Amino acid sequence: MTNEPMLKVENLRKLYPVSKGIIGTLTRQPQLYVHAIDGVSFDIPRGEILALVGESGSGKTTTGLCTLGLTEPTEGNIHLEGENLADLSRARQQKALRRKAQIIFQDPYESLNPRQTVFQAVSEPLEVHHLASTRAEKIEKVTAALEAAGLKPPADFLHRYPQQLSGGQRQRVVIASALVLNPSYLVADEPVSMLDVSIRAEILNLLLNLRDEHNITMVYITHDLASAAYIADRVAVMYLGTIVEIGPAETVLDDPRHPYTKALMSVIPVPNPRQRKKRIVLKGETPNPIDLPTGCRFHPRCPEAIPSCSKTEPKLEDLGDNHQAACLLLKD
Ligand code: ATP
Ligand code: SF4
Repeated sequence: MTNEPMLKVENLRKLYPVSKGIIGTLTRQPQLYVHAIDGVSFDIPRGEILALVGESGSGKTTTGLCTLGLTEPTEGNIHLEGENLADLSRARQQKALRRKAQIIFQDPYESLNPRQTVFQAVSEPLEVHHLASTRAEKIEKVTAALEAAGLKPPADFLHRYPQQLSGGQRQRVVIASALVLNPSYLVADEPVSMLDVSIRAEILNLLLNLRDEHNITMVYITHDLASAAYIADRVAVMYLGTIVEIGPAETVLDDPRHPYTKALMSVIPVPNPRQRKKRIVLKGETPNPIDLPTGCRFHPRCPEAIPSCSKTEPKLEDLGDNHQAACLLLKD
């Protein structure tokens, strides 16, 4: 085993061109872009869970999709197990990735075809990749995946349809469909946000077990810092397409250094009123990702902004212990 990270992302950018419409084209208006990801770098050691947290539109899902080869980056490099995805042909990239990297989406109701049984849904990836030559082999692999996803005894679930399952059981079937290919890397995109609060912890514990038992590396995407604190080894906080703070989960969440992270942390409910922090209410809406603010892109909403914040763009500063944040106030 090497020390090479499972995933290495370097200076990733993803710009989506905005449609100009007929009038814009005829009047030769300049092409505008949505800056979905704007210079994101991180790496994840094998077996680690990195949470990407941030408000809607901060670029979490686009980052996850790029690492899976499901969205083509505009710039930057992604290395999965040491292999640069850009160096592989599209066909080879797809083939290599489909086996080792999988995604779990948030909505188990939409992820499953109501006309397929659990067996059909979970065995489909095996058929696509020609990974089971006999029906017996297929049953064996599907049964193992259902068991790993906590659907026990598996035989009780094989012939059920999604509508005969609870929300938590459906999400476990979705997870089993990912596990059946023995992936080494998983993107879990808001995997519990559509589930009843009472079963969220069960699914998070299942993901933790998969990491512990199968050494699966994970990107966990969420709006919810409390679930990130529960599951992640490290947390990367995203704002308008950039990482503004990254580090070990306890450090970032217990001692946030970026004003945006501080604001997110201040609104997490805590059971003990003595530990309750003063709520930081951010002013205004997230700026338009087509026309980004100058300098620090958080400055129009930042409660700690100083005059230079609208002119100078902060870079991630090293704060020790693998903790980094991008804020001009942290510069020496
Ligand atoms: P959410 O939590 O709502 O999913 P997110 O943090 O995952 O948000 P993304 O979905 O990655 O954010 O979106 C980042 C930005 O890119 C948003 O402004 C979004 O509108 C834009 N975007 C995403 N996909 C596309 C697309 N296919 N075409 C144009 N713009 C897109
Ligand atoms: Fe706020 Fe300025 Fe720091 Fe940006 S650089 S987070 S605006 S204080």
